[in-house]
Order: sequence, then C-alpha cells, then structure tokens
Amino acid sequence: MTSLNDLPIRDDLRGLTPYGAPQAHVRVELNVNENTHPVPEPVIAEIMARMAKALTTINRYPDREFTELRESLAAYLGHGLKAANIWAANGSNEVIQHVLQAFGGPGRSVLAFPPTYSMHPIIASATGTTWLTAQRDEGFHISAETALAAIAEQKPDVIFFCAPNNPTGTPVSLETIAAAYDATEGIVFVDEAYVEFAPVSHGTALSLLDGRPRLVVSRTMSKAFAFAGARVGYLAADPAVVDALRLVRLPYHLSALTQAAAVGALAHTPAMLAMVDEIKSQRDRLVHELAMLGFTPYESSANFVLFGNVADPHDVFEKLLAQGIIIRDIGMTHHLRVTAGTEAETSEFLAALALLNATLV
Ligand SMILES: *Cc1c(COP(=O)(O)O)cnc(C)c1O
Repeated sequence: MTSLNDLPIRDDLRGLTPYGAPQAHVRVELNVNENTHPVPEPVIAEIMARMAKALTTINRYPDREFTELRESLAAYLGHGLKAANIWAANGSNEVIQHVLQAFGGPGRSVLAFPPTYSMHPIIASATGTTWLTAQRDEGFHISAETALAAIAEQKPDVIFFCAPNNPTGTPVSLETIAAAYDATEGIVFVDEAYVEFAPVSHGTALSLLDGRPRLVVSRTMSKAFAFAGARVGYLAADPAVVDALRLVRLPYHLSALTQAAAVGALAHTPAMLAMVDEIKSQRDRLVHELAMLGFTPYESSANFVLFGNVADPHDVFEKLLAQGIIIRDIGMTHHLRVTAGTEAETSEFLAALALLNATLV
C-alpha cells in the first residue's frame, strides 16, 4: 500500500496532520461552535427562490467580483464600508488562505498567540508561511505590552489576533490591536468569527480600519448566521488589500449558488441573527453551571465555553460521545470546550456531565 511518505510531497508537508475535528453525527453536537438552531423556514424559502433563479444562468460563470454579495456584506457591517472594502470566499478559512498567499508565503512569517484557532497554523503551513508564537498573559489576555514585546522580538510579516479567541473565548482589546499595528510594517489580521456573540462594549476592529491600510478584519457566516454548510466567510480592509487578494484567488471562486444563498440570507439578517441572544444566555448558563459542578470555566465572549479542572478530558469526551453528546477535546491538559447549544442540548450536556464526577479536585 502506498503511504503519504512514498509520494514526492513537499518536504515541509511531511509528517503534518490535517484538520481533524471528529465529525460524528450524534444527537447533541456541541463540538465545532456551529449555531445549532436551523435557518428559519421563510428564509429557506427565499434562499431557494434565489438559488432557483441563479440556476437559470448556471451555464455561465458566476460574477467573478460577486458585487451584489459584497454590497450586502458592506451594508451588514456598516462603519461606512463599501463593496470595495469587502472580500469573500468559501468560508473565512479560504479568506485567511488568500491573505497568507498574498502577504505570507515562503520566507515570510506569521505571529500568533496560542492557544488559538487550530486552523491558523494549518493554513500557515499550507501556504509555506513560518508560524511564530508568543505567550499570552494571565487569563489568556494579550496586553499591548505583551504584543509589542513579541513583535519587537520576532519581527513577523503578518500578525494574527483572534477576537474573541477560539478556544478560550477571550476578547482582544482595540488598544492592543492598534498598538500592534503601530509597531509593525506588516499586516495585522483580526479574526472576528465570533464577534456577534461579544458584548457591544468590546467594540470591533472594524472601527480601526479608517487610516490603517494594513489592518484586515475577517468575519464568517458560519457561526452567528447559522450558515456553516454554505461556506461563506469575508473580510473588510482597504481596497488595496482586496486588490492584492485578487492576485491569488482562483477565478470565479465563489459559485453563483453560494452568492445567491448568501445574498438571500443577508436580506434576512434580523431573522438569521434572532437566536444570538438565546445562545449567549446558554453560554452564560454554561459558565455558571460548570462552576457549580466544580469545573473552572473561563468567561467567554463567543458561543462556546472552555473549562478546566477536568481530571481526564479524553475520558469525559468518550463517555459523553457514548451517550450521543459530542464536545471538543482540544488537546489542552485538563480542559475541554463545549459549544452553547439550544436550551435542551445545553441541559442534556450539563446533566450528563454532572453524573460523570469528572473533576480533578
Ligand atoms: C469557526 C471559525 C472560523 C470559521 O471558519 P469558516 O471557514 O468561515 O467556517 C474562523 N475563525 C475562527 C477563529 C473560527 O473558530
């Protein structure tokens, strides 16, 4: 049998493992931070009508500039942004890949602050970008001083912030992002995949874009928008950044069906985001009740909760899975991560966990 190592694969890909969050279809799926509420029926009907219309011209290539979608996304984001400021792709993972293809790559580096999104280093290695890391402060925060010290020491070409951070739920202050921008001549990339779940008072890096042409803020429709299966991620930046991304994307990378579906969903933004407040209340409930069970949950600005004081995370993961409940073992000692689901899903998870006597002390 041929193994990967028998192939003339790139040397820098030898020995790597692909993204591999288990994709088990069980009763309660709280492992990859999806919105567990389905898209409302009336919105599905409108999306289907738009996709049906797109099918009548599907013999032609789609709008390469996905102008209507970029206009819809700019209108959703506000902050004076125009279609020229927007880029989109098949999930924000592809958006991140475009950014590293254009601004990272062989001979260049990206600095990040682990623990952070597991796809960030994978996209770095796929694009040949050197992955540099720096330590966070207490409680997983990143002060401006900590960011500046890491930038001065490592001189990265690209800096990744994940705000709120996956898997910890920690916000990153606008002060830290602005300070990092001033300390580098490279790209500062802020992944705001979970920002819709954060308190409005935390702000968004979108408010920093004006006058900062090397700042890039990415978002996704996969989480708050309940649209993970459609694969739509996007970013806002200076139009010159968008021009750079046109150099690396494949032509017609967003299908006409994807564009039609996303425009349809964005036309119903309030309905699509209707469950966000409910998810936030389940998240806060998780923090409260996990603490009552003797675990050490972290405050979260996202739709998931990281909790520590788990004696044997892998054992808990397996025992919950055997009961049809999947959460995430992120490989962090004595920690697990759980997505805030519906009230019933969250209750089922908490009840099952309570019976496991799984705390370390
Ligand atoms: C889930 C997630 C994304 C979303 O990726 P998509 O490709 O848009 O589905 C992006 N960034 C972070 C930090 C995430 O956790």
